[in-house]
Parts: sequence; structure tokens; C-alpha cells
Amino acid sequence: MNTSHQEPERFDVVIVGAGQAGLSVSWHLSNAGVDHVLLEQAEVAHEWRTGRWDNFTLVTPNWQCKLPGYDYSGPDPHGFMTRAEVQAFVQGYAESFNAPVRTGVEVTRLAQRDEGGFDIVTSTGRIIARQVVIATGGYHDPVLPAFAAALPESVTQLHSSEYRNPTDLPPGGVLVVGTGQSGTQIAEDLFLEGRDVHLAVGGAPRVARFYRGRDCVAWLSDMGVYDVSVQQHAGGLSKRESTNHYVTGRDGGRDLDLRAFARDGMHLYGRARALQNGRITFDPTLGASLDYADSVAESIKDDIDRYIAREGLDVPAEARYIPVWQPAAEPAALDLEAAGVATVIWSIGYRANYRWVHVGVFDGAGHPTHRRGVTDAEGLFFLGLPWLNSWGSGRFEAIARDAGYLADQLLGRTNAGLPREPELAR
Ligand SMILES: Cc1cc2nc3c(=O)[nH]c(=O)nc-3n(C[C@H](O)[C@H](O)[C@H](O)COP(=O)(O)OP(=O)(O)OC[C@H]3O[C@@H](n4cnc5c(N)ncnc54)[C@H](O)[C@@H]3O)c2cc1C
Repeated sequence: MNTSHQEPERFDVVIVGAGQAGLSVSWHLSNAGVDHVLLEQAEVAHEWRTGRWDNFTLVTPNWQCKLPGYDYSGPDPHGFMTRAEVQAFVQGYAESFNAPVRTGVEVTRLAQRDEGGFDIVTSTGRIIARQVVIATGGYHDPVLPAFAAALPESVTQLHSSEYRNPTDLPPGGVLVVGTGQSGTQIAEDLFLEGRDVHLAVGGAPRVARFYRGRDCVAWLSDMGVYDVSVQQHAGGLSKRESTNHYVTGRDGGRDLDLRAFARDGMHLYGRARALQNGRITFDPTLGASLDYADSVAESIKDDIDRYIAREGLDVPAEARYIPVWQPAAEPAALDLEAAGVATVIWSIGYRANYRWVHVGVFDGAGHPTHRRGVTDAEGLFFLGLPWLNSWGSGRFEAIARDAGYLADQLLGRTNAGLPREPELAR
């Protein structure tokens, strides 16, 4: 540890964050003998330890967990690791190459130096680095709607990142707001435990788990969908704002069909709009949201069918999905007390937090601007962001490819670019 009056430490490269992204680039730097350190505010795989619920499983199959020099080698490549297994996997990776991680060190300020390189203020002292990789994940500050403040005090409210299990919640009904991957899986978790679940459905798409004998993820992988870069996509960079398809890996994997939940007794609503006097109102969007989610799932199956035909593959046919429930009407409002709702779980996502980064590489919305993680600020990089380069960039699927690309940039500069220590001005 050094304090503010001590000489700063110096490294060629500082990586901020010791999740799978930071560790992946560290693996390359370690192999190349580059002097570097990972600064981690908590512990290795912190997000997997603290930001997921007890019954969490990966949504992506285990075979997609392929980090540089460290593929999944367990007994169930087509299964979905539990939270504890993912933690162990990422922890095992750090140990496999003795990653130079300093835990419990938060980076509180990052700024460029006039002399080149970066000044890094941390909770334990100052560091100077020639290059910095920001690998702090894509999910920082939990988002709550402004009207959350109007919730009666008698109702417990939490963000999806704080949800652990049904028994931690007070008895009574639960309203889950949002149907991205977290909201749909949490709603199912509660429903399976026999809780009375109300679900405000948003505009997220869904995907079938299996189709024509295989996991849809396997089909999409073979079809090259995960190799398409964000620039090549019709929507271009706006893809970075898109919501992931909902599906689950629980119990070997299955669809998350909200219509089936409703048929079996879950209460579905449209988008939550406002909250007043303990009464929450909804937009009339339920029918359209369910139709949209199904249409995306079916269009993915169309693509798979076309691929199978084109490749001449001999695989079983499969009947298409037939909606198992339709809303009789658009529910306008829910009186929380009258319905016995004791808990609200906001599952509407996260906002990025780069307030500690004092380098001019952000757009008006606070998102970093970069190409494949390379910013316009010499020596500053991002890794692990959703759609950094392709669909899998914010997940296990593409992190090896993205980290390899970034390592080439870092090593190129380390070997040729910026002045080396001790030439770097003090
Ligand atoms: C609910 C949910 C489900 C997901 N499911 C899947 C899935 O099924 N499959 C899949 O492949 N991906 C999944 N992901 C996405 C992704 O794989 C994870 O978010 C993963 O944790 C990303 O790894 P990372 O290394 O980029 O970031 P993180 O794991 O978030 O690691 C970033 C690290 O940076 C540290 N940090 C942050 N700020 C600072 C600072 N200022 N100073 C020092 N340290 C700092 C944090 O403590 C953390 O340890 C899911 C994400 C969520 C939210």
C-alpha cells in the first residue's frame, strides 16, 4: 500500500476489474511478460458472487465458456453452470496463471497525464500506468423508475441485483417489473416456490431454448450469428442498447413462456407507467409485447430452418409454437394492498457508471466511444462491454476473441509505441 505522499507505483498496464474480461487480457499480458496489475475493488468474480440470485444458472451453455487458455472442461458442456460453479470457474482461471490481482483496491479516479500515460487514484494509493484497460463490466448502477419513491413504506422494494431467493422476501405477493433475462427468471423462481407473482411485461424478445434437436445457441453459433460485428449489423451501434432474449438454463434449460406462466396463474400486465396511492398503472402493451417476443422466437426458428435446408442437414422436424394463452383485456392498474403485494422487484436494468474516468472518451449519454474497445485516448481501452464488437462481447462467448484483439493492441504499443519506463516522465 502507498499513501498520497508516497511515490506512485508504476506499471506498463493497469487493468481495472478482475472478472472474466480483465482476467482474459491479463492472461495474454502474463504470457508476454508484460508488467501489469489487476485492480479489483472487491474480489475475483465479484459480480458472479454478489450480483446474482441463489438459483441462478447461466443462460448460455457451458461450452461457450472459453477464456484464453482456459476452456470449460467439466462433465456437462451442454448444461448451464450454477452461480457457484461460475464463481469457481472464474476463480480457477485467475489461479491457473497466477493472475496479478490486487483485491480490495477500488479505482476512484483515472486521468491522462500531460507526459503520456495515466494517473490512477485508488483506495490504497496512486499508480502511474502507460496503458489502462477498463474491464469493470456492463452492469453498474441499478436503475429504478422515478415513481419507485412513491411506493408505500409497507411494501418492500429491491432491484433485481439484490434478489437472492423467495424466502428472503416478506410473505405475500410479489410484483416483478421488467421482463429482461433477470425479471423473467426471477419471476419464474418465485412462481416455482408457489408465490403469487405479478409481472409487468416489457418489450424484450425471447428465444426458444431448443429447436430441431439442438440448443438454439448452438444453431446460432454454427450460423455465424455470434461472429457478426456491431458495425455489420443493420442497427449498427444502436445494437449496444438492445435487450437480450429471455430463456433459461435452469434444470437443463427450457423456454420462458410468459403465456404459459399466465395460464398457470401468474398475473401479467403491460409496461408499468406510474404509481400513486399504492396503485400502479400500466400501459396497454401486454398483448403486443407477448406477440413481439413470440415473433422474435419464431423468426429465429425461420433462420434455423433456412440454415438447415441450405446445409442439407438431416435433423428432425419440429412443430411450431402455438400461443397457449391470450390476455382477455389489457389490465389498467393494480392496487398493491388489495392484491396482497408485499414486495416489488425492479428488473429494468442498469446504468453505466464511469464518473471516475476523467478522460474525454464518452458520448452525450455517458457511453464510452471506441472501436473494438480501442478509444481515441492513446493507451485507454475497454473490454467486456455488451456488443463491444459482437453479440457475445459482454458474455463468455466472445471474450477470448475480444481480449486477444486488445492484447495485440496493447502489446503493439508496449513494444513500439509509448515511451517505456523509466523514460516516462515523472
Ligand atoms: C443477470 C445476469 C445474467 C447473466 N448471464 C450470463 C450468461 O448466462 N452467460 C454469459 O456469458 N454472460 C452472462 N451475463 C453477462 C456477463 O457475463 C457478466 O455480467 C460478467 O460478469 C461480465 O464479466 P466482466 O469481467 O466483463 O465484468 P464483471 O464480472 O462485472 O467484473 C467487473 C469487475 O470490476 C470490478 N470493478 C468495478 N468498478 C471498479 C473500480 N472502480 N475499481 C476496481 N474494480 C472495479 C467489479 O468489482 C467486478 O469484479 C449475465 C449478466 C447478468 C447481469
